[in-house]
Amino acid sequence: MGLNDTSPSAMRNGRGLSDQWAEAVVIRPRTTEHHITVHKRLVLGFALSILTLIIVTAVAVTLSVRFEECSIGPDGVAGEDSSRGGGSGRFNGSRGERTGERGEDEATQPWRNSRLPSSIRPRHYDLRLAVYMDNFTFSGEVSIELECINATRVIVLHADRLEIDRVSVTLEGGASGRPANRPSGGSMRVHRHFLYAANQMYVVILHRELKPMRVYRLNVSYEAAIEDELLGFFRSSYIMQRERRYLAVTQFSPIHARKAFPCFDEPVYKATFSLTLRHDAQYLSLSNMPLHSSSLDDEDGWVTNEFARTPRMSTYYLAWAVCNFTYRETQTDGGVTLRLYARPDAISSGAGDYALHITKRLLGFYQDYFQVQYSLPKLDLLAVPKHPYSAMENWGLSVFVEQKILLDAEVSSSSYQMDLTMVVVHEICHQWFGDLVTPVWWEDVWLKEGFAHFFEYVGTDFLFPKWNMEKQRFLTDVLHEVMLLDGLRSSHPISQEVEQAADINRVFDWIAYKKGAALIRMLANVMGRSLFQKGLKDYLLSHMYSNAAREDLWSKLTQAMRSEGRDIDMGDMMDRWTLQMGYPVITISKNQSDQLPTHYITISQEHFLYGQEVRTNDSFLWKVPLTVSVGNVTILSPERLIWINNNTETHRISQTDKETWLLGNINQTGYFRVNYDLHNWKLLIQQLHTNPQIISVGNRAGLIDDAFNLARAGYLPQSIPLQLIGYLPGETSFLPWHAASRVLYQLDKLLDRTDEYSLFSDYVLKQVASPYHQMGWPSNVPGNEGNILQASYQADELQRELIMLACSFGHKQCHRQAIAYISDWISSNKNRIPPNIRDFVYCTGVSLMDEDVWEFIWMKFHSSNAVSEKKILLEALTCSDNTFLLNRLLNLSLTSDLVPQQDVIDVIIHVGRNPQGRNLAWTYFREKWDVLNARYGEALFMNSKLISGVTEFLNTEKELNELKEFIQSSGVGAGPALPRALEIVEGNVHWHRVHRQQFFQWLRKAPSSVLG
Ligand SMILES: [Zn+2]
Repeated sequence: MGLNDTSPSAMRNGRGLSDQWAEAVVIRPRTTEHHITVHKRLVLGFALSILTLIIVTAVAVTLSVRFEECSIGPDGVAGEDSSRGGGSGRFNGSRGERTGERGEDEATQPWRNSRLPSSIRPRHYDLRLAVYMDNFTFSGEVSIELECINATRVIVLHADRLEIDRVSVTLEGGASGRPANRPSGGSMRVHRHFLYAANQMYVVILHRELKPMRVYRLNVSYEAAIEDELLGFFRSSYIMQRERRYLAVTQFSPIHARKAFPCFDEPVYKATFSLTLRHDAQYLSLSNMPLHSSSLDDEDGWVTNEFARTPRMSTYYLAWAVCNFTYRETQTDGGVTLRLYARPDAISSGAGDYALHITKRLLGFYQDYFQVQYSLPKLDLLAVPKHPYSAMENWGLSVFVEQKILLDAEVSSSSYQMDLTMVVVHEICHQWFGDLVTPVWWEDVWLKEGFAHFFEYVGTDFLFPKWNMEKQRFLTDVLHEVMLLDGLRSSHPISQEVEQAADINRVFDWIAYKKGAALIRMLANVMGRSLFQKGLKDYLLSHMYSNAAREDLWSKLTQAMRSEGRDIDMGDMMDRWTLQMGYPVITISKNQSDQLPTHYITISQEHFLYGQEVRTNDSFLWKVPLTVSVGNVTILSPERLIWINNNTETHRISQTDKETWLLGNINQTGYFRVNYDLHNWKLLIQQLHTNPQIISVGNRAGLIDDAFNLARAGYLPQSIPLQLIGYLPGETSFLPWHAASRVLYQLDKLLDRTDEYSLFSDYVLKQVASPYHQMGWPSNVPGNEGNILQASYQADELQRELIMLACSFGHKQCHRQAIAYISDWISSNKNRIPPNIRDFVYCTGVSLMDEDVWEFIWMKFHSSNAVSEKKILLEALTCSDNTFLLNRLLNLSLTSDLVPQQDVIDVIIHVGRNPQGRNLAWTYFREKWDVLNARYGEALFMNSKLISGVTEFLNTEKELNELKEFIQSSGVGAGPALPRALEIVEGNVHWHRVHRQQFFQWLRKAPSSVLG
C-alpha cells in the first residue's frame, strides 16, 4: 500500500522533505527481555486457562442443554434461517448475555476474542454481486467452502455494515470435497446467527458440531451500500463532458473486505475466489483475474461478468471495480497482458502511457531479481480520482489515485514524475512481497511495506541508473527521515503487537515503511547482493501462495549465508532491530588513555534519543554491523566490518597518527548514527574543507545529518555542525546539499521567530550564494520540460535545491528572478516558468507580490486541469503574508467544495509552514478540531499528518502550555500523534532553553575561517 506522503514543506519542499516527524504509533516498547517475561506469563496463563476451560466447559454443557430445550423455534427451520441480521448487530449476544456467561471465555464465545478462532478455514469463495449504480447499493451471495480443523458448533467470520438476509450451512463431504450422501442433502440446522458489532464479526451457531476433516459450505445472502467514504466497496465521481460520472471500486486493506462480503478477513486465511459481477451494461467491470465469461441479458440490459478463479490469496488484496473507463494495453515478453484504465480523456491524452511503459519493464526486472515469475495472466492498473492512499497493490488489479499514476508530460515537474515512478515501482513489488507471499499478521506489515519501500529505490535505479536512488536519495528520504521519528521516546518497535481492529490501521506508519526499508538495506549490505537475492528467492519460493512471518525470512537469509560459509544468525541479529524501538548512536574514539597503544579505538553504543530528560539508562543493545575506514588528506583505507555487540568495546585498527581520521558507517548503509571524539570531528571537517571528494557522497550527506541531529539532541556542541557546513560552497553534488537543506529548514522552523534570526539566515546564505550563482536558473528549452528521462537529473535537482535555499533564506536576486517570472506570466498570460521550479516560484510570488497575484493564482487554480499543477497552485496560495487572505483560504477549504476534501489538510499544514501563518494555523486547528476530527479522524494517517503539521514549529513555553491544554481538553482518542507532538514541542522548548545561546554565540563571532 502506498501512503500519501505529500511533502510538507511549502516552498521548501524537495520531494523527500516529507513529514519530518510523521507517523509513529505508541505501542509498548517490546524488548527481548519483555519477550521472555511474556513467555513465562504465557506458560502460567496457559495452565490457568486449561483449568478455567475445564470449569467453563462443565458450565457450558449444562447451559447449552437448557438452550437447546427452549430455543428451537421458528428460526430453527432445518438448514436455513430467514430472519434478517441487520447491520447494527442487534442480535448481539442477546441470548448469550441474558444467560450470563460471565464465566465463559473465548472457547465458548469465540466472537468475543478480537481474532478469529482457528477451528475453521475457508478454502474457496464463490461470490456473486449485483451492483446498482443508480442507487449505490449492491446485493451479494457468498458461498464459502470451509474446512473444519477442530470440532465446533460455531462459525465465526467477519462482516461489517452488511444487511444479512439468509444463511445456510451444508455438509460437502470429506476433506476431498466429496459431496455427502445424506437424505437431507447435507443441510446443517442453524441454531441462531447474529452480527457481533464490537469485533465486526458474524456468528453462525449450529445445532450440531462440524467435524474435523470435513468440508462444509456456508451460504450467506446480504445487501449493502456502496459507500460514500473511501473504504470497502465505495463510489467516487468525476466530470466528463460537463456530466458527472460515477465509478465504484474497492479498498479492502487492511480490514475492509468485511464491508463488502462476509469473509475470514485475516491475511492468514488464504483461499481461492470466484467472483461474478452483474451490473448495467453501460459500465465495465474489472477484478484481480481476467474475465472468464460475459453475458448480456437483453431484457434488462444488464451484463453478467464471471471472472476466472484466483490463486490462493488473502481477502485484503481482492478487488473489483465498476466504471466507464477506457484503457491502453501492452504485453510483456512472457505474455502477461498489462492495461492501464483511466478516465477516457486521460487515456486519449496519453497520460497513462508512462506508467504502463515502466510497469512492463518492472515486471521483467522483478522476475529477474527474484527469479520468480509474476503469477497472474494479467495486471491492470486503475487510475481513480479519489483514493485513501497513493495506491493499493491488489493482485492483478492495482488501484492508484490519479496524481500518482497519470503524467501530463508538458507540465509535470521531475519530482512529480519521480514520485509517481516510485509509487508504481512500490506497488509492482507488492505483487511478490505482499500478494504472492503475505505476512502472517499485521504486526509484521513491515515485511511487505519495508520491502516495497526499499525496492522503490532499487527498482527506480533499474529504470534510471543515473539517478543513484539506492545509494543516494535513499539516505535523505528514508534513512534521515525515519531516524528523526525513531529517535523519539514515543516511537515504537517495528514489529508491533496488534489485536484490535482500530490498531491495525495504525501499523501502516513511517516506522513500518521507512525503518523497514532501512533495516532491509542494512541487511542487504551485510549479506552482499547475490546472497541477499538468493535468500529472497528461497523465501518467496517456499512461501508462495501462502504466508510468512519474520522468522521465516531470517531462516532463509541465514541459510543463504551459511551456503557460503558465513555463519551469522540473521534472526539473532535482526530481533534486536525489530523488537526494540529506536536505534543506537555509535561513538568511536581514538584511544586517548595510556594503557593501550594508539592503534586501538574504543567503540560504544547507546540508545539515541532527542530528549535528554527522557534519556534513561535503558538496557537496549544492538548487534551493530559497523564499517570503519581510516583516512587522511589523500587516501581512505578500504572499509572494515566490525560487529559491535556490547556497550563498549576496544578494537585494533591500522596504525594511525594525529592527522588520520576515522569514518564510521561507510556509505551510511547502517541504521544508526555515528559520533566521534571532538578531535576526530575537527579532522573530518578539515578534510571536507580541503578535499571533500575523499569522503563518499553518501557519507558527506551522512556527516551533515548526524552532526546536526547529534547537536540537536545535545550529544555534540552546536558549533560542530555549523563549522561542518562551512565546506558547502565547495560541494558540487546534490545529496549533501539536500541533507543540509533538510536540517536547515528544520532549524529554520525553530528560529524564524527569534530576534537573532538574521544571524542564522545570513550564515546559510553565505554558504549558498556562490554555488547558487554558478548553477543559475534553468533555461527553458522548449520540449525538454519535465522530461527527466532526458534531463540530467542530479544537476537539475541540485539547481532546484540551491534556488529554493536562496529564495527561502531571503536572497534578493533570487526573489527578483521569481517575481520576474510571475510578472511575465501575468502580462503575457503564458506560463514560461520551467515546471521543475514552479512550486516555489509561485510561492515566492504570492508571498512578495500584492494581492492581485494571489487572485491570479486562485483563478489559475480553478481553471487548471492538470492534477500536479492544481496542487502546487493551491499550495502557493498559502504563502501569502496577508492573514486575511490566509483566513479566507482556510475557511473556503473547509466549508466549500472548491478545494478537494483530500487537499484540505495540506492547506492547513502549508499555512502553518508559512511563518506568517503559524499562529493562524495553530489557532484554526484548535477551533475546528471537532469538525476536522469528525471528518478525518478515521483516516489516522491524515489526522496525524495534520497534527504534526500544525504543532512541529511550536517552541515557546506558552505554546507548549497551549498544546498541553488542548490535549487535555480535546485530545482524547486522537491516537499517537498528540503524545508525539508533545514530545517534539518539549524538545523544541528544551533546545531554546539549553542550546540556543551557544548556537547564536558561535554565529555572532562570525569566524572568518570556520576552522578557527
Ligand atoms: Zn505498500
